Amino acid sequence: MLHAGAFDDPSRQFAIKAIYRGRMHPFVFIEGISPMHRFLGLCAAFLMLCVAPRLHAEEQPKLAVTVGLRHVAKDLWRVDYRFAQAVTALKLRSIGEFRQQEWKVLTPGMSMTSGSGFDVIASKGQPFKAASVEIKTFDGWEPKEYVSFNRFGDGGRTVYLGHLQGDIEQGTKTLSMRADFKLSGLGQENVIAPPPNRLQPDAERGYAYFGPAQAVPAGAVKVLIDQRTPQWLRETILDVGAKTSAYYEKAYQRGLKDQLLILISVDNFESSGFSIKGGAIMGAGQVSYRLEGKQVLLDHPLLREGVARNVAHEMAHIWQLAVAQGGIGGQGPWIHEGGAEAMAIDALLQTGMWSEESAKAYRAKQAATCEKLGGAVDSYDGIYACGLVRFDALGVGIVPLWRSMMLATEVKGDAYSQRMIDTIVSAK
Ligand SMILES: [Zn+2]
Repeated sequence: MLHAGAFDDPSRQFAIKAIYRGRMHPFVFIEGISPMHRFLGLCAAFLMLCVAPRLHAEEQPKLAVTVGLRHVAKDLWRVDYRFAQAVTALKLRSIGEFRQQEWKVLTPGMSMTSGSGFDVIASKGQPFKAASVEIKTFDGWEPKEYVSFNRFGDGGRTVYLGHLQGDIEQGTKTLSMRADFKLSGLGQENVIAPPPNRLQPDAERGYAYFGPAQAVPAGAVKVLIDQRTPQWLRETILDVGAKTSAYYEKAYQRGLKDQLLILISVDNFESSGFSIKGGAIMGAGQVSYRLEGKQVLLDHPLLREGVARNVAHEMAHIWQLAVAQGGIGGQGPWIHEGGAEAMAIDALLQTGMWSEESAKAYRAKQAATCEKLGGAVDSYDGIYACGLVRFDALGVGIVPLWRSMMLATEVKGDAYSQRMIDTIVSAK
């Protein structure tokens, strides 16, 4: 989702692109992307998070698969799949041209075919128990999808493990992959695996880091920041992250349930505008940002304000997920997105990082967007804009409401829902 702040100096126009990515059930997105938007004036666009909601999947049978990911040269990777039983196909949801461009099947007799939204690796219908592929670092990204790779200035890379996961076919049967990742780095490099997903063990994993850097403790979280990150961005992200965490912890009366790693990479200073892609990765205990464009180097109050809103929004999702069970579900994305918007504005105001005027202007802009959409939450913009409007219209403080929702989701593990909101609001 794109957020822009208007600025009345036309000499400083810039184009902003922002991406959100994420997924719900196989083909539905959560935070998609706004491809490329241009605004008059100084604009800042920020990506919110990508949360992969909990799949209340019709429990599909699962098959254990060992996935070895080895860094073999600077931008070359080898993936070895080992299946617990013989299978007839490995079926991965297509991520644009990623696999067609960068994947090479190494196992003799096997090949990959792409179409109908899937990349399928098979051996002419013959059963197999192993498959190996070679992958090159991919710089492309798809709207509504996580970025497959991020490059860091010191040669480090992060790899989105979820793009190595998918389904398995055994004849006419489809099974889910229960992936056990084995990561190995190049030479002496440091490898940081994402922690297991506590709420949803078989969901897509987050980013694995391979490179020379170490994650550095910063308050309650750890950070891994590209050395090229300009000071204003480093400061803004860390400061807002620390202040909103402290605020959410106190307001919602709960601490982080998972270790949190914040990954920041910057690239493509030569491209126009300012782009920030990434967000919170559900269950992975990670918030990943990739910043691109000339304006990344520009320190401007409106850009700081936009980045602050984005970070506060992502951290709100982290708190929505700081529950023993339940949390974000596959229905009604406006609940966690609109909820994160309202939680973020509250946190920014209460910590003094935003003025009343900033909050008022942002609410007015979102309300106008929502009105154009007729109040509906069935579109990408509607999820955010009308989601916020809906929470604002409840007449209940966002803090007591979400504190109650976090308690309610933990009772039986039911995901956040409209019904839960109605029950809480009617009891107030
Ligand atoms: Zn979000």
